[in-house]
Amino acid sequence: MSRFLDKKLVFLKPYIPGEQPKGIKKLIKLNTNESPFPPCPGVKKAAGRASKMLNLYSDPACTNAVNAIADFYGLNSKNVFLSNGSDETLAFIFHGFCPKGAAFADITYGFYKVFADMFGIKTRIVPLDNDFNIKVEDYKNLDQTIFIANPNAPTGILLPVCMIEELLLQSPDRLVVVDEAYIDFGGESAVRLIEKYDNIIVVQTFSKSRSLAGARLGFAIANDDLISDLNRMKFSFNPYNVNTISLLAAEEAMKDRQYFEKYRKEIIDNREYLSSELRRIGFKVLDSKANFVFAGRHGSISAKDYYDALRQNNILVRYFDSERIKDFVRITIGTSEQMRLFVETTEIILKGR
Ligand code: PMP
Repeated sequence: MSRFLDKKLVFLKPYIPGEQPKGIKKLIKLNTNESPFPPCPGVKKAAGRASKMLNLYSDPACTNAVNAIADFYGLNSKNVFLSNGSDETLAFIFHGFCPKGAAFADITYGFYKVFADMFGIKTRIVPLDNDFNIKVEDYKNLDQTIFIANPNAPTGILLPVCMIEELLLQSPDRLVVVDEAYIDFGGESAVRLIEKYDNIIVVQTFSKSRSLAGARLGFAIANDDLISDLNRMKFSFNPYNVNTISLLAAEEAMKDRQYFEKYRKEIIDNREYLSSELRRIGFKVLDSKANFVFAGRHGSISAKDYYDALRQNNILVRYFDSERIKDFVRITIGTSEQMRLFVETTEIILKGR
């Protein structure tokens, strides 16, 4: 650490991303909730077109991509804000919309705590219940900005939209941020609630259901005033926050509904297959509506040993060494072939014990 770092950042504990190993061909990579499928065909052509325009700055208003998202949801483009990954939107929200602090679950997306620390925001941690469910009544008397990952990560558990609405009604003067990174894999989005409530921001990403994690694209959907505040922050920080290749990719990915539907359905089918196979083998598998499952508590292998054994077999999953979830591993849903191999390998690992 240099002697120049501001004291307020000295204790910052950065987010630790899942490993992105080299020599990926040998590995089955199920550790960072990416899509196992390539982006839709239009993205490749768009990248070619975009490469010829890279001498110019990208469109700071992200016009075409924003319109494509608005069209997809039947909204006005004034209700959409595009960013460099949804992490960037979340960063703006923490920076600008948390004057009374931020409240979120004890088990949720790890970046929330990091953003809060980065921007000097006080946090209120609200424990999930014993079955890892969010209890909305626990939020009733809180006046901090509420962050709900829905479905939650790393559990995959979905909170029904009526419960999100309950949170909005608890206090009209409190903002609720619904992080729907995984919503396309079986949950109902809270997007429609923006028409009725001005205290909700829905955040989504192209990284999962649209196979564009490497393009870094995320977005917020909210009422006009919240969106113009997000733009106020963006234009005070990085006006060209989304590059031209990603802008064209976003537009293509939003327009190709058929491709989107086909592959998200495949992920859902593969998730149901993996969940039922792991349960048959003796694992506890939480009821996931995401593109991953959280599995563990097996009588004959600890989660950490399971993680290590999978790794020895060239399968990478995610293990979190923290008290409440140390008995589980998080497994990203891959292709049906990868899932079959995963189950086979698990059976071999367990036989050897
Ligand atoms: N929210 C949640 C719950 C996530 O798991 C992730 C991915 N790690 C993100 C937001 C950020 O995704 P991205 O920046 O790739 O859009």
